[in-house]
Amino acid sequence: MNTALVLELDGMTVPVDTDDSTRKARLTIEADGSLRLRAAGDVATDELQHFLASKRDWVYRKLSEKELLRHEPVTKELVDGEGFLYLGRSYRLRVVDDSGTVRLERGRLLMPRTDVESGEAAIIDWYRTRGLQWLRPRVADWAQRLRVEPTELEVADLGHKWGSATAGRRIRVHWATLQLRPSLVEYVLAHELAHLREPHHGPLFWQLLGRVLPDFEDRKNELARVGAGLWIGGPS
Ligand SMILES: [Zn+2]
Repeated sequence: MNTALVLELDGMTVPVDTDDSTRKARLTIEADGSLRLRAAGDVATDELQHFLASKRDWVYRKLSEKELLRHEPVTKELVDGEGFLYLGRSYRLRVVDDSGTVRLERGRLLMPRTDVESGEAAIIDWYRTRGLQWLRPRVADWAQRLRVEPTELEVADLGHKWGSATAGRRIRVHWATLQLRPSLVEYVLAHELAHLREPHHGPLFWQLLGRVLPDFEDRKNELARVGAGLWIGGPS
């Protein structure tokens, strides 16, 4: 097998492996959420592109089932004017010469110049602390609706996951989740809290979620779609 051709689906790159032992094209999703297409060498590129497009719904469904935060690397520059999302709104960065901390002020995300040198850490910290404040009352609210009692709430870097619920009833939310609009952040929160009652994604889990969040299916699909374009920080 060799990969010569690379196709694209909504900004996701899809390497094509030539494999003359298969007659039918086959699309797979790897463990990390990346896509791969296998096809015989003599299939025309536009035919493959067409095949790929026909698989769009399947791809998003699978990605949301796997609950993967699939994305192409989105990079940010710490310069004036760079855009950062918070709860679905975009804020422009402004580097300032003061000794404060990263903060939102009059529709701008302000960052002290001294923080710029240490990279993205200060901004990620800001997502974590501000996000935690935003999430706290909502966790209480959703926990009550779902009749669960989480012991702890944490906003952290969860790699390729939006959120997690651990055995000790600890709820964790990826800081990158806070870039989403509130209805999607609340979906992630409700989803993780529901795991405190139903650890697995069986019918009971979705039933429980559906009772408190009747449109969860739409939110779940949207999460998979918009999540693909989010920034999750640079390699650390
Ligand atoms: Zn889950």
